[in-house]
Amino acid sequence: MGAPHIKAIVREQALEGILFFSPENIRYLTGFSGSESYLLAGKDANLLLVDSRYITQAKEETKDCRIILIDKGIKGVAAKIVALGWRRLGFEAQRISVALFEQLQENLHETVLVPIKDELERLRGLKGDDEITLIKQAVQVAEEAWEKVLGIVNAGTREDELALELEYRMKRAGAEGVAFDIIVAAGPRTALPHAQPTTRPIEEGDFVLFDFGARYRGYCCDESCTVVAGRATEEQKDIYGIVKDAHDKAIEQVKPGVRLAEIDATARDHINQAGHGEHFGHGTGHGVGLAVHEWPAVGKDSPVVAEAGMVFTIEPGIYIPGWGGVRIEDMVLVTPDGCEVLTAIPKDLMIV
Ligand code: ZN
Repeated sequence: MGAPHIKAIVREQALEGILFFSPENIRYLTGFSGSESYLLAGKDANLLLVDSRYITQAKEETKDCRIILIDKGIKGVAAKIVALGWRRLGFEAQRISVALFEQLQENLHETVLVPIKDELERLRGLKGDDEITLIKQAVQVAEEAWEKVLGIVNAGTREDELALELEYRMKRAGAEGVAFDIIVAAGPRTALPHAQPTTRPIEEGDFVLFDFGARYRGYCCDESCTVVAGRATEEQKDIYGIVKDAHDKAIEQVKPGVRLAEIDATARDHINQAGHGEHFGHGTGHGVGLAVHEWPAVGKDSPVVAEAGMVFTIEPGIYIPGWGGVRIEDMVLVTPDGCEVLTAIPKDLMIV
């Protein structure tokens, strides 16, 4: 199964077109990178609807796309749909609020609104060569920055200083921004999988967990590294080793035809057998592309089978409340005969 074709969905569901709201899908389909626009992807043409703030940018960034100036907000969109005389319109169901949907309904009496959900999930799931190049560039920028920041991980440095420095370095290296708010956690706070950096200073012997990613021309990367400041205890080495083995075994398994649920099970079973099943609550990974979290999920319930062109993370972790945690995350690209690890920082325990 390849990526779905918009025109095929339009035809199969007897629609006149599909209304898109999500900046990622709109960027994917048109090239437009602005934060607010609407796309009417029709049988014959793509119409990108923007208000006056974006008109110049839209003309510059898009091709094979008609740019239409509308009044700001959903009313302007509805007016255009009425003018087109469209009677059956699909819409990106997972990206619209109830309030917005009601507004759309109120302004479109003559149009049947058809929610499109599962068919669109896979839209960006298989990456093309150009996309992979951009993801690799995002990785390069993020890792170059992280390696510089590693030099200032010392007793006394604060979590928030490290996060700020990492963001600054990524932007200096060419990132247009961070792919998500950087996580830097030290000591017992590493047990919080999504910790926000605080003013807590690093102490000798702390685990320091970094979860970071750059955005490069729209494309994201995502990586986690856990290091120890000063000297590691046997227990720290032990826990790190379990997560590392779970991570390695999962990556070894990645190839076309393997169910993503099996990849999750491989990491999870390893951590379970080591007696830490209750300390690994999240999924093993997620797709990465124009969004940092996107289809497919690598989790227990994932029905998806790996296909060449998918890019996702492998990121098992162990989090022990009050003690600390470890997460090791790499990004992989599924290739015709296995996988390529896109991240390059070695994941052996680093003492800094
Ligand atoms: Zn991740």
